Amino acid sequence: MDEKKTRKLLTRLTVIVALISIALFLFTGGIVYYLFASLRTYTREQMQVEAREYKSRILKQIDNDFQLLHSLSTFLSFSDSLSRQDLVEGLYQTNATNNFVSMALFFPDGSGMIETLEYGTSPDYPLASSHPYVQEAVNRALSGQDAVSLMFESQISGDLVYNYAVPVLQNDQIAGALCASDHLEIFEEILGGNTVLNGNGYIHMLSDNGKFLVRSKHSIVSDPDMTSIFDGPYIAEDQKQSVRAAMQSQQGLFSTFRYEDKECLFYLEPMGINGWYLFCVNRLADASGALYPLLLVVGAAFAIMLTLSSFLLFYGYKTLRRNSKQLLHVAYFDSLTGAENMLRFTQRIDEFLPRRLPYSIVAVNIRRFKFINELFGQEQGDQLLCYVMQIIKAQMREGEFFCRDAADLFYLLIRDIQEVSIRQRLDDIVHKVGQAALSRQNHYEISLYCGVAINGNMMQALLALQSIKHTYHSDVAFYDEKLHQKERFKNRIESHMQSALQNGEFRLFLQPKMRLSDDGLAGAEALVRWQDASGTLFSPGDFIPVFESNGFCARLDMYMVEAVCRQLRAWLDAGITPVPLSVNQSKLLFYESDYISNLQALVERYRVPAGLITLEILEGLAADNMVDLNAKIRQLHELGFRVSMDDFGSGYSSLNTLYQLNIDELKLDQGFLLKSAYGAGTRRRVILEHIVQLAQRLSISTVVEGVETRENADWMRSLGCDYAQGYLYSKPISAAAFDVQYMHLPCPALP
Ligand code: C2E
Ligand code: MG
Ligand code: MG
Repeated sequence: MDEKKTRKLLTRLTVIVALISIALFLFTGGIVYYLFASLRTYTREQMQVEAREYKSRILKQIDNDFQLLHSLSTFLSFSDSLSRQDLVEGLYQTNATNNFVSMALFFPDGSGMIETLEYGTSPDYPLASSHPYVQEAVNRALSGQDAVSLMFESQISGDLVYNYAVPVLQNDQIAGALCASDHLEIFEEILGGNTVLNGNGYIHMLSDNGKFLVRSKHSIVSDPDMTSIFDGPYIAEDQKQSVRAAMQSQQGLFSTFRYEDKECLFYLEPMGINGWYLFCVNRLADASGALYPLLLVVGAAFAIMLTLSSFLLFYGYKTLRRNSKQLLHVAYFDSLTGAENMLRFTQRIDEFLPRRLPYSIVAVNIRRFKFINELFGQEQGDQLLCYVMQIIKAQMREGEFFCRDAADLFYLLIRDIQEVSIRQRLDDIVHKVGQAALSRQNHYEISLYCGVAINGNMMQALLALQSIKHTYHSDVAFYDEKLHQKERFKNRIESHMQSALQNGEFRLFLQPKMRLSDDGLAGAEALVRWQDASGTLFSPGDFIPVFESNGFCARLDMYMVEAVCRQLRAWLDAGITPVPLSVNQSKLLFYESDYISNLQALVERYRVPAGLITLEILEGLAADNMVDLNAKIRQLHELGFRVSMDDFGSGYSSLNTLYQLNIDELKLDQGFLLKSAYGAGTRRRVILEHIVQLAQRLSISTVVEGVETRENADWMRSLGCDYAQGYLYSKPISAAAFDVQYMHLPCPALP
């Protein structure tokens, strides 16, 4: 999965997680809110129902009292003949049969009489001596209305009482006012602590201005000095005005307040008499009984669940994010250097190319990195890679990126397309790496080489890189037309190699191997030439490296071994003594499991002595696994083959290899004969002399390659070298020409 997709997925997950969390939060909050709202509604309804119940009881009692007073007043209306004494007597009689605290009769002239159950009758009790509230009620009755006074403290009993007053008519004229005072039993209940709402709420009675007329002793708000609901915590300052207005217009009213950290509700129910109100107060927690704690538990449980699930979601999401980050890191970054890897690099290139900006791809490699690894150890090698990575990283500019591919190969995408500035930047990298700590410590010069493809691709950069792999004079190569041709040629040979093998286009050429002692023929080396359908002849240098990299070389080598066998057979059949033939063997071939058996099958098929065949291997094989290689050589010896080491001295030849490898022949690379190598100094001569002597002592015969002059031959002879190969004697020639020239066979008839 690429980074973009992963990021998209993560964003989607984030949104989902957030939505789920919000949904959970809303759902939980909604449920808790709904439950609390229901509880509040229920409590309010309950308070209203109960307050109205009390109200109806109070009104009923007031109504009953009025009815009784009206009956008495009617009775008085028809007794105009009664004397004052009779009236007093009548009052006494009547009062004795009802529950009124006192009864009184007042006349329009302000005179009156009073009868109290406890203190008896006062026949002369003027209206002026009664409580002002009573006077007000009596005056209303004398004007023809039924009246109820405000509450007042009885001068006689000290109880809180109120007064009824009804007119007494005689001959349709108001003759007086009949009064009765009473204390409502229901108020007693309230005062005595009786409660509403299952014992949790309290009812008070208020006057029209909010003053307590009757206040429950067990009020939630405990301040006994409080005289009005506007004094205490009931009503917030900014609500007082609206509550007063509501009370003036006799409206019912719900509200809430907090007291001792608890939410409380109150309800004001108008009584419809004198502006009185019933004031019902309740704690929300108490009102609901077991429901409130249950709700709290449910709410808390939901909150915990929500927190937990949110935490889990968040944690899961975090883990996923971290894991995917780690995965992305593993997928996109090289664990050794921390640089991006090839996968990421190609993705970035895919993103970059559509922008159609100029760019160059650079391939960077460390020279002889394998050797550095072997010489200084893998740890040092790893450190060097990290160092190179840092140097490259520091060179990157905005919009540029790079990766480490395999081993010591780095690819860069830079925005430069000018050869001069590219070369400058790369030289800078090469120079800085050259100063690596490793080189300073070990006095070993680390060098890089780079291949550049301007507006090209990685393959082209790599080809440019490979073109200077073996040339030490240049560190930077650009992919150009020549390389392009080479690449095209490579593609062409790769597409033709199979058919070429079938069509016999690979030809056996032979180069004589001469004894240095007497210049006599000692053998020949088989060298392949590719003659295509057009007759063009290609040298191994053109195609062998390609075949080595694509694996075809192993097949070609066996084909050449067969050609050698066929040649030997032809000589044997012709009755001439064959000369030993050498044949080059690639590294790949040596690793094939059926290599030995295939060789055996060939010599058996052509019935040629294996001793006539020398297998030339490259010294690089020894570096891989000496033990395995010796085992293979032993098997080959058992079959009778001879083994030669080719191009000794061209790479990192080690004398150790000579000691340890059980070879029969050593071929000294033609590089030894270069003028600069032997002409001036004696160092090279000393080395060569020692190699030859060492080989002699180990019974390994020596062949020098590339002998072009008589001088070369004499020099090598003087060193004790056994054989020579080179243009001095002959270039590689076709097998037919060799037959004629060296085997003294007649020239084959022309077709
Ligand atoms: P090599 O096995 O070291 O072969 C010797 C090379 O040196 C040959 O090049 C030969 O032509 C060249 N040579 C010989 N005498 C002189 C001389 O006096 N001066 C100079 N300058 N060169 C001389 P050639 O034929 O082009 O082959 C090149 C390489 O290709 C061979 O090097 C060998 O490694 C490889 N090769 C050739 N044929 C085969 C083959 O059938 N199989 C494999 N695997 N490799 C082959
Ligand atoms: Mg060779
Ligand atoms: Mg050679």
